[in-house]
Amino acid sequence: IKQSNTLCLGKEIAYYEEIDSTNTRLKAWAKEGAMEGSIVIAEEQLQGKGRLGRIWDSPKETGIWMSILVKPQIGIEKIPQITLLAGLATCEAIRKTTGLEAMIKWPNDIVVNNKKVCGILCELVNTGKDTAVIIGIGINVNSKKFPDDLPYATSLYLEGKEVYMREPIISCLLEQLEGYYIQYKKQLSLHNIIEQYKDKCINMNREVNIVSSTESYRATVKDIDVEGRLIVQKQNGIEETILAGEVSVRGL
Ligand code: ADP
Repeated sequence: IKQSNTLCLGKEIAYYEEIDSTNTRLKAWAKEGAMEGSIVIAEEQLQGKGRLGRIWDSPKETGIWMSILVKPQIGIEKIPQITLLAGLATCEAIRKTTGLEAMIKWPNDIVVNNKKVCGILCELVNTGKDTAVIIGIGINVNSKKFPDDLPYATSLYLEGKEVYMREPIISCLLEQLEGYYIQYKKQLSLHNIIEQYKDKCINMNREVNIVSSTESYRATVKDIDVEGRLIVQKQNGIEETILAGEVSVRGL
């Protein structure tokens, strides 16, 4: 992979033809002392991970299956913001390199024409020395079809009718993410970044189904706050604040 124009992200890259999960590999490497910005990337994941133990389908050479290590050294309550930055950076990289109108489904799925083209899974890891975050990003790039049990999945190829090189997308993504990450570490311009996120968030002012382990209801998305929480209004008028990780938002 050609070096991207970054100072930190992607300076150390571990590349695999085949791996269980890039997140799992990077977690182990983090515990062995991997430096901030280290990346694991693979042509194929045999056990790609989604949220809540779900599987991420990652067949050979069709996508970008990548994990990035960051060590923000700031309050743990700010970690959910990283998820949003990663979503925004990925959305912008897809837009810039393909011209497709990628949108974000809160908190961090990327959709094109209402179908899922990318999933992001952030995981905390205690390295013994510090708390690190692993940002796992899976982008369906040149997939030509999906299994029947993934009716809402799509790829950049299927939406753009073009085969895309993966390298420029990766470089652009790392550059975008690094820009946001520097601001995030200083806790600067976050309102600005959240505004950009909201501009691209497909759920804004729309009705969604909020599904948690204890309840399920319809609500309208009113706002996303600077911590990355979703503010929704229930049908009885009452507002609720929702943390990523607690719920699934269904219905685009
Ligand atoms: P959710 O949107 O429910 O949070 P996750 O981000 O955890 O989902 O991703 C896992 C889910 O995404 C799986 O349960 C499956 O439905 C779907 N999925 C798995 N692999 C792919 C893929 N390559 N492209 C699009 N969707 C996928």
